[in-house]
Amino acid sequence: ASAANGDTARPYLRIENVRKRFGAFEALRDVSLDVLPGEFVCFLGPSGCGKTTLLRAIAGLDPQSSGRIEQGGRDISLLPPSQRDFGIVFQSYALFPNLSVRRNVGYGLEHRKMRRAEVDRRCTELLELVGLADQAEKYPAQLSGGQQQRVALARALATSPGLLLLDEPLSALDAKVRLHLRQEIKDLQRRLGVTTIMVTHDQEEALTMADRIVVMRSGVIEQVGRPGDIYGDPANPFVADFIGTMNFLPGTLIGPRHVRLGSIEIEHAAPLDGLAAGDSVSLCVRPEDVAIADAAIAAPANRMQARIADLDFLGNVFRARLAPDCLEGMILTADLPTAQVRQHGLATDQTLPIALPSERLRVYRAAP
Ligand code: ATP
Repeated sequence: ASAANGDTARPYLRIENVRKRFGAFEALRDVSLDVLPGEFVCFLGPSGCGKTTLLRAIAGLDPQSSGRIEQGGRDISLLPPSQRDFGIVFQSYALFPNLSVRRNVGYGLEHRKMRRAEVDRRCTELLELVGLADQAEKYPAQLSGGQQQRVALARALATSPGLLLLDEPLSALDAKVRLHLRQEIKDLQRRLGVTTIMVTHDQEEALTMADRIVVMRSGVIEQVGRPGDIYGDPANPFVADFIGTMNFLPGTLIGPRHVRLGSIEIEHAAPLDGLAAGDSVSLCVRPEDVAIADAAIAAPANRMQARIADLDFLGNVFRARLAPDCLEGMILTADLPTAQVRQHGLATDQTLPIALPSERLRVYRAAP
């Protein structure tokens, strides 16, 4: 949205060295992050990692213990929520039960002493935006969970805030509504160009909605990146394991491009980040990157024979548990495209040639 003003490189939100203590417990440990104007950023991580704490610090609802937060060039570190510029949507819809949908949406505007007719016009506009124009006179209890959350979204956007904060807004909804609203929120955010931060512990939600994902663990940011980069090139084993499914195969680094795994040497093209020959490592490969080494691959590197221990039909793929004969009892999870499984007539206990594409492998120091 802000590409037009030529100021896209300058962060809209700047979080610097933020810490948050609850008594002796440190929920945020020196967190720094820049969010660009118009960006959709997801805070993702396991329960208790500090996502909500960071979001609440940005809103001023539960201020940081130390560190600085800047929004639109303004130091907001010490401002109360009422003097900050954001709209927020919580997991529980948090609508006023005794107010109509229209009055819920207009609540913040009435408090800004906007003229009644003006408030009405704005509410109609917002309800149209979230597809609820025909529900304006209903009360929250008369709406479905998904509709209530759309009202909450309209209310959060009513004052045209510079920052939209979403705290697990979809997690109370059933799966189908969640998928639908995911798309709606994303479309709406793009259309309005409002800088948005969403807290979620649902990796699929983060991967599909975010421009950038901030992966957190134990009060620390582990990685910040675009969904494809986080998934394809995780910075460490925690991120690799937390996002998607990953095979971790224990081995030994024997040279800059080779790992000994069981009785064979595997060639890889992974960055080595301070690793040296002799180090114990995990060689990582995603299930969908394990390839059937048929004639389609001319000279596959890292080829091996593997017995199919197990084959589960998942629709577009079969998830296979493979026991490669050279890997001394290690089990490899592989997602084999259904068409290929049918073409090769694969079944449990059969042996098939597989390959681990060297450019798709990642190598990490083995956990001590
Ligand atoms: P979840 O997905 O479960 O909400 P989260 O990543 O959002 O997890 P936070 O709610 O930010 O986690 O909490 C981070 C840590 O801080 C947790 O260990 C939590 O127990 C602790 N914590 C949060 N609020 C308080 C509080 N008011 N007093 C004491 N400890 C707190």
